[in-house]
Amino acid sequence: MSEVTTLSLTDLVQNIKEKKLSSHEVTKGFIDRSEKSKILNTYITEDFSSALEKAKSFDNKPNFDLKLPGIPIAVKDLFCTNGVKTTAGSKILNNFIPTYESTVTKNIWNEGGILLGKLNCDEFAMGSSNETSFFGNVQNPIDKNLVPGGSSGGSAAAIAGNLTPITIGTDTGGSIRQPASFTGTVGLKPTYGSCSRYGIVAFASSLDQAGPISKNVKDCALLQEIISTYDAKDSTSIEFKRKSYSKELTNNIKGKKIGIPKEYRVDGMPKEIEELWTKGIEYVKNCGAQIVDISLPHTNYALPAYYIVAPAEASSNLARYDGVKYGFRSKGENLIDMYEKTRSEGFGSEVQRRIMIGTYVLSSGYYDAYYLKAQKVRKLIKNDFDDAYKKVDAILTPSTPSSAFKIGEKTNDPVSMYLNDIFTVPVNLAGLPAISIPAGLDAKGYPLGLQIIGKAFDEQNILNIAYAMEEKIAFKNKITDWWIK
Ligand code: GLN
Repeated sequence: MSEVTTLSLTDLVQNIKEKKLSSHEVTKGFIDRSEKSKILNTYITEDFSSALEKAKSFDNKPNFDLKLPGIPIAVKDLFCTNGVKTTAGSKILNNFIPTYESTVTKNIWNEGGILLGKLNCDEFAMGSSNETSFFGNVQNPIDKNLVPGGSSGGSAAAIAGNLTPITIGTDTGGSIRQPASFTGTVGLKPTYGSCSRYGIVAFASSLDQAGPISKNVKDCALLQEIISTYDAKDSTSIEFKRKSYSKELTNNIKGKKIGIPKEYRVDGMPKEIEELWTKGIEYVKNCGAQIVDISLPHTNYALPAYYIVAPAEASSNLARYDGVKYGFRSKGENLIDMYEKTRSEGFGSEVQRRIMIGTYVLSSGYYDAYYLKAQKVRKLIKNDFDDAYKKVDAILTPSTPSSAFKIGEKTNDPVSMYLNDIFTVPVNLAGLPAISIPAGLDAKGYPLGLQIIGKAFDEQNILNIAYAMEEKIAFKNKITDWWIK
């Protein structure tokens, strides 16, 4: 048996069901490796001893009908976990221990999953490099000088580094797909409303969605069918017929029409990304799909619209952190002074920047000019996709305009950081599902991803296309265990 940590989730489940591996062996394997991988800084909170206990009790009384029988899983530290510290990567929640469980994580534990720990992320999921975390940046297992992407950087790094068999992240403007692309992993952002937001620390409520990050497409499909449930506790949760994505997964995509949007050929895009996209087009053609040129005319306005809508919602969501009921509190001379000190010491600079932008665009006199305008642009972007889907079944684009960049390279230039989201944010604004799969390496050996965007609720279709492409691409990450001494 090869090292347990190199096995896919699907293989681990099978091995446990066939009693070739115990939950304890698997859990211990991932814990040992995580212990040796501290330098990557993927974990904010480890829950290792409790995980081992849970694994033992699973082995004593196994239930092999479960979909995740005794499988250890680390999750982004944005999901509230009952009794386990949940920080959202922020000082302001540094001491916060929830008394309830997010629906998405509850679904995972109900299927036999075991919490390994909470993974590092950008503060309140605001960022594209995991450098805004109060708990420090994460190193990309591909190369120690690289960011792993963000905001689910700890999650993507933990998959690439084999520290957890599967994980969940959240994606408000690309935070699952961009880090997946930067680390050579698979990341799915589901249709808005398919996974409950209950118990997820809110960033921008009309955009936030939870989704899997995994080693391969099949694992991703399996986790998606577990986390996607209707939930009355989330008023934006949608009731629709959910599929058994992993069971219905097929690589037969013959006759599917795949759209190529011309507006995604942006100025200054590296040649390697162009070439990757061209190769991707060849792969889908080889699978029997048909390529159709399409136009998404308002693509250019997606980024500016996103960076109005997201901060506006964030400024409202983050108003609750006042030091009164929970979280960090600073001493003040009076109530107002306490609020001010708590918020200026508790939030990092990126979060403060977003709160200021958000309150500005919502303030009277500017609301119509900025926020309302951005909402109108959002509708136009959604209409572009609706028009496109009259002609095609899915859309293929690069996931990011570059491979992973260096730690520190963009920290002093927020606009260039924001530009990294150019291919991912339109999808959130339109509420659509999209998956990023590793599709090649650049000249330096860094992974590059391709994105497949689907119609609303059509997760099965994009998973199938990704599955077919994955087989043709046969991606191999150039990764050494450099961090393990
Ligand atoms: N990078 C984007 C931002 O900073 C997206 C973040 C996310 O998806 N959570 O807003």
